[in-house]
Amino acid sequence: MSSTSTSPAIVVLGSLNMDLLMRVPRAPQAGETLLGRSLQHLPGGKGGNQAVSCARQGAAVTLIARVGRDADGDALCAALSADGIRLDAVQRDDTEATGVALVMVEDSAQNRIVVIPGANLTVTLDEAVFAQALQGAGAFVTQLESPLSVVLRAVALAQAAGCPVVLNPSPMQPLPDALWPQIDTLVVNEVEAAEYTGLPVADGIGAVAAARALMQRGVRRVVVTLGAQGAVSVDAQAAVWHPSLKVQAVDTTAAGDTFTGALAVALARGAALPEAARRGIRAAALCVTRPGAQPSIPHASEVDAMPE
Ligand code: ADP
Repeated sequence: MSSTSTSPAIVVLGSLNMDLLMRVPRAPQAGETLLGRSLQHLPGGKGGNQAVSCARQGAAVTLIARVGRDADGDALCAALSADGIRLDAVQRDDTEATGVALVMVEDSAQNRIVVIPGANLTVTLDEAVFAQALQGAGAFVTQLESPLSVVLRAVALAQAAGCPVVLNPSPMQPLPDALWPQIDTLVVNEVEAAEYTGLPVADGIGAVAAARALMQRGVRRVVVTLGAQGAVSVDAQAAVWHPSLKVQAVDTTAAGDTFTGALAVALARGAALPEAARRGIRAAALCVTRPGAQPSIPHASEVDAMPE
């Protein structure tokens, strides 16, 4: 199947942040002052990143999000629009500022992030607009940087409308039992897999056990990403180990978001879970070789050119 054979519609609900990306030799200790190397303002936020990843894989993306009525909001919307993302459902908040993330990237490529959510916390769901966007959509993709009540309502509506829900439950927070059976595909990193299940997740074997525990709660299928090691995909048919591609990582910001977007588009095109996870691995490998969140997310043609 060609990666660009169809152009599925995907609806994304999530956060938009302006990332203040600081490059530093290493993270400062408590009480220490360090000289950094550079500061850049780059578009980010898990919702925006996953929307961009879907769009660059060729999907027609509608984004539901909220920014302030400020310069960061304007810049984020302009960047998303340049990727062809529909912004009719992106709201403007008159009092809250656009979300900001302070992203510190060490020379080792390790990152440390603090998010000030701002307008992301006041996003609302216009159910008529959402229902219309879901019509014919191949997937609904969301995360947990938006208010939980809004995410839960959107997931329930998408599932009731027959649209497969791809949930990246990050950052980790307690979730109601009723949510899990509404999830078609759950994407978690190793830390989240361990936190949600209470099981140790350090390698593929631990990741498969955690995935199976999440499936017992009602999730249909699970992918656990393990950073530079790779990922496992688990569904009723098989548990498959997908090693990462060997690349020179400079900044792992948005690796998981790139993975989730590429996986969601492949699933919406009809790929089986292992094939979709492999697509995610290849897209994420490219992402980590470049700095920043949205600027580092690859296009389908670049992923096509990566080795299998
Ligand atoms: P998150 O960004 O959500 O914490 P991970 O760190 O698990 O997620 O990374 C997601 C995916 O990105 C991994 O499954 C892998 O495919 C890819 N990835 C992350 N770090 C590297 C790396 N150093 N080299 C190659 N691929 C990587």
